[in-house]
Amino acid sequence: MSKTIESWGKSYSCTPRDLKYPRSTEEVAQIIQEANQQGRNVRVIGSGHSWTYLVPTNDILISLDEYQGLLHTDSTSMTAEVKAGTKLHRLFDLLHKHDMALINQGDIDVQSIAGALSTGTHGTGREFGTLATVIEEMTLVTGAGEIMRLSEKNNPELFKAAQVSLGALGVITDMKIKTVKSFKLEYISKGGTLEDAIGNFDRYNADNRNFEFYWFPFTNLVQLKLVNETQEPIRDGGFWREVDDILIENIGYEVLSKLSKYWAWWTPRFSKFSAKYVPKGRWVNWSHKIFATKRWVRFKEMEYNVPREKFEACMEEIVKTIHDRKFRVHMPMEIRYVKADDIMISPATGRNCVYMAVHQYLGMEYEDYFKTLEQIFWKYEGRPHFGKMNTLDYEGFKRIHPNWDRFIALRNQVDPNQTMLNDYLKKIFNLQ
Ligand SMILES: Cc1cc2nc3c(=O)[nH]c(=O)nc-3n(C[C@H](O)[C@H](O)[C@H](O)COP(=O)(O)OP(=O)(O)OC[C@H]3O[C@@H](n4cnc5c(N)ncnc54)[C@H](O)[C@@H]3O)c2cc1C
Repeated sequence: MSKTIESWGKSYSCTPRDLKYPRSTEEVAQIIQEANQQGRNVRVIGSGHSWTYLVPTNDILISLDEYQGLLHTDSTSMTAEVKAGTKLHRLFDLLHKHDMALINQGDIDVQSIAGALSTGTHGTGREFGTLATVIEEMTLVTGAGEIMRLSEKNNPELFKAAQVSLGALGVITDMKIKTVKSFKLEYISKGGTLEDAIGNFDRYNADNRNFEFYWFPFTNLVQLKLVNETQEPIRDGGFWREVDDILIENIGYEVLSKLSKYWAWWTPRFSKFSAKYVPKGRWVNWSHKIFATKRWVRFKEMEYNVPREKFEACMEEIVKTIHDRKFRVHMPMEIRYVKADDIMISPATGRNCVYMAVHQYLGMEYEDYFKTLEQIFWKYEGRPHFGKMNTLDYEGFKRIHPNWDRFIALRNQVDPNQTMLNDYLKKIFNLQ
């Protein structure tokens, strides 16, 4: 029976003719080889947490949900060989048992490792690139059905293309990733002002391992998140912190968001209310417990990065535009720093950058809001997160990504029958 797949943010749904759950690299290769022989198309899904139309297909959809876990760990080289379908929270728990951790993480831990890395998922911190920078080697089943092992030494150009590749080269089945020894983090959350967060942005990033802030529209208030390594004993607030997290940050915020939806003219008040009651406190826990947050309230999101030196001007114009245009939005903007990398089409390729994410509660008007801000991001050389909403087509991506055409040329070599494409990928690669 066919099953309908829907993304977390309800941005797409699709009913693939065949939903396959292979349990090995060889099974993946067989599915892709047969698809080539029959002239069919294949897409691959992680956890469906992207908003863009990378995944939808009405033909064959591969999920690696039945291919999860650790294959091998090496405490000398501090590397781990991971099955590509492994959900991040499961991976972090498994690594922790081996006294290992990932050096950095994003906000949530429910994505699959391959899904997260394939769109350039990132956290924050002056010292850290996108998560895909932790990959040392990978096994790729190409769109032609060939099994290839890629690394900096073995086929380096294809490796750099595959690190962030949108499932467009083929299916990644295993990867060897760099890890560090398990470590604890102290997390401080507090209120502050927008002037301080922007004016002292470099200082905050220099003084903290991981720094980010949320700005609440129609206020000059922010939530500052300061995260640093510590040897202190765990201090996680136990049961009451969990209750607070569920009741206030999720259920309470859902109620507030529903009110914003029905009384949209009150959104500035709701934003001010949220700003006033940002969580304040200090917690200590293992890194994977500190980084990951629960996200029950559903929203649409657009996130662009701009070169570090353009951040202040871009932010100023965005704040002014939201206020001048009185967009009905109560959800805060999230600001994070990411270090440059050398991955072929990573949004952070070749430049240190600041990611700026805007959110709108599901069911509220977002098109005009996002479109208006997107034009501002373009003015400041913005590049979008591949998993988050944007309106770029081939020309748009080519303008901002120096290696776009080279990526497409390599893609065409490993997937000559265009087996791995759907309509969206055809559009952004100009392969109609
Ligand atoms: C609530 C929420 C919070 C988020 N927080 C952050 C954050 O803090 N930082 C950030 O950068 N992003 C964040 N994101 C975005 C998210 O990390 C990315 O969209 C990510 O790609 C989703 O992973 P997934 O496993 O759901 O992959 P999917 O969305 O299912 O797939 C993403 C891409 O990966 C490809 N893919 C999946 N598996 C494979 C495979 N085995 N081989 C090759 N390609 C594959 C798919 O074809 C697709 O192109 C967030 C998203 C949500 C909904």
